[in-house]
Amino acid sequence: MRRPNQYERREMKEIFEIIDDWVGTFWVEVFPVLRGLRSTGIVEIPDENVSRFKSYLEENDVAYQLITVSELNEERIKRGKDLFLDQQHENIFYIGDEARKVRMLVEGDRDNDFFCVGMMLGYPDCCVATLFKTGTESLDIKALKSNFSMIAHIPCSSTCPRTIEYDSKLKADKERYLEKIANGRNCL
Ligand SMILES: [Zn+2]
Repeated sequence: MRRPNQYERREMKEIFEIIDDWVGTFWVEVFPVLRGLRSTGIVEIPDENVSRFKSYLEENDVAYQLITVSELNEERIKRGKDLFLDQQHENIFYIGDEARKVRMLVEGDRDNDFFCVGMMLGYPDCCVATLFKTGTESLDIKALKSNFSMIAHIPCSSTCPRTIEYDSKLKADKERYLEKIANGRNCL
């Protein structure tokens, strides 16, 4: 059997690079950045996948900064800000299409500046503003998000037009992406 050349190897790598089995928030945080629908994202990764995720980002030209939850909280304590407590994993990757935006995002998160972080993450203004006003305590987040499979933010309502538009755009993009992978597959 002929060995794939460099170009084919690269293409195969792209084709098989479905990483949602080990990056839980791939579709809502990484994919929109790869597709240019959002410029930044925040991804939590367990220790065992840190170096694997770094290589993935480097191969895909995604800028990133890695900060552990303890480092983030140490910084927040210094600044007199509330701590980040509801993490899934210890390692936080701030990712983006430009290193400058990633640095701004990190700075906003260290300040626990929810409004700026939401805006930098490209969430709809109506949702960021609503959440900023009401806080999360009185919200049924699960119900608000239930109509949308591709969003990372908390929508201002379950019928928020900006969220509907973003979610359907990303859904269509995901379908196209998966279709491309299926077409490129040659198992025989
Ligand atoms: Zn909204």
